[in-house]
Amino acid sequence: RLYNEVIELKGNIRVFCRCRPLNQVEIANGSNYVAEFDPSLDNELHIISSDSSKKQFKFDHVFKPEDNQEAVFAQTKPIVTSVLDGYNVCIFAYGQTGTGKTFTMEGTPESRGVNYRTLEELFRISQERSGIMRYELFVSMLEVYNEKIRDLLVENSNQPPKKLEIKQAEGTQEVPGLVETRVYGTEEVWELLKSGSQARSVGSTSANELSSRSHCLLRVTVKGQSLIDGQKTRSHLWLVDLAGSERVGKIEVEGERLKESQFINKSLSALGDVISALASKTGHIPYRNSKLTHMLQSSLGGDCKTLMFVQISPSAADLGESLCSLNFAARVR
Ligand code: ADP
Ligand code: MG
Repeated sequence: RLYNEVIELKGNIRVFCRCRPLNQVEIANGSNYVAEFDPSLDNELHIISSDSSKKQFKFDHVFKPEDNQEAVFAQTKPIVTSVLDGYNVCIFAYGQTGTGKTFTMEGTPESRGVNYRTLEELFRISQERSGIMRYELFVSMLEVYNEKIRDLLVENSNQPPKKLEIKQAEGTQEVPGLVETRVYGTEEVWELLKSGSQARSVGSTSANELSSRSHCLLRVTVKGQSLIDGQKTRSHLWLVDLAGSERVGKIEVEGERLKESQFINKSLSALGDVISALASKTGHIPYRNSKLTHMLQSSLGGDCKTLMFVQISPSAADLGESLCSLNFAARVR
């Protein structure tokens, strides 16, 4: 309760920054950290440019390279669990390929990410409230690639992907035919999420290649009914692993790759436009400029809660992209 009041005061849009540690290759190459953190502050960082000048960025929270998945989830938990109180929620991981978007959202079997931890917490709270509320949880997973929507939870993924379309109904957007799987407990959830994320790479020669160019969306639908007055709620939580935000080099840009990068630029800038329009409370919100924002329309804005993770690399080699991502995030703040 208290937390919801705090969110209202600050507005419903928050931005968290997460910087991954230097990896083995970067360490071997003698890379230094270009991101500097004040140990006593958890909401700012400095980026050191090649001329040694420093640029300060402030966000709602800044995770340092040593912050683990528990620390990230501790800050994310109040936002995701508000879906049980009837709020629609959207969480995005934004950033260059290789900065940890998938690590934050999916995680690894040893270090599970926001997606799994969220479902675990939703089950725990449902249980805790079982005397006053009855909840049903459903999971859908889909991918947006080149402005086409593909279901990631279809039974037989060897079949040609079924094309899904957004249907505009009164005040809401539906995706007719999208698989919704009822989930009962954490055991099955990890397997389900794994199968969905594996379906993401079907048809591509390299899993990481395609996943960096598509948006992966996990949707949790919560149906609640009060055991006291019978009142029903239905709300959506979207957990989105966005396509890589990097600009592709001039030489690579031809054919398929050119088309892909144009679609990615278009949808990421459409997302930035929507969130910054919401943050600045301007009248027109341009939801219809991409499949991504159109599909999420009823979960973005109003009293919906939005969280953007801006993921960055600490390496000097990625300085340009890191600054682009931080500037993008600063714009939506
Ligand atoms: P992206 O999805 O943005 O392309 P990944 O999530 O695949 O990036 O991360 C790239 C690599 O870095 C992976 O091997 C991942 O496990 C690792 N990694 C990312 N973030 C962290 C972190 N905070 N701590 C440890 N390893 C990380
Ligand atoms: Mg990824």
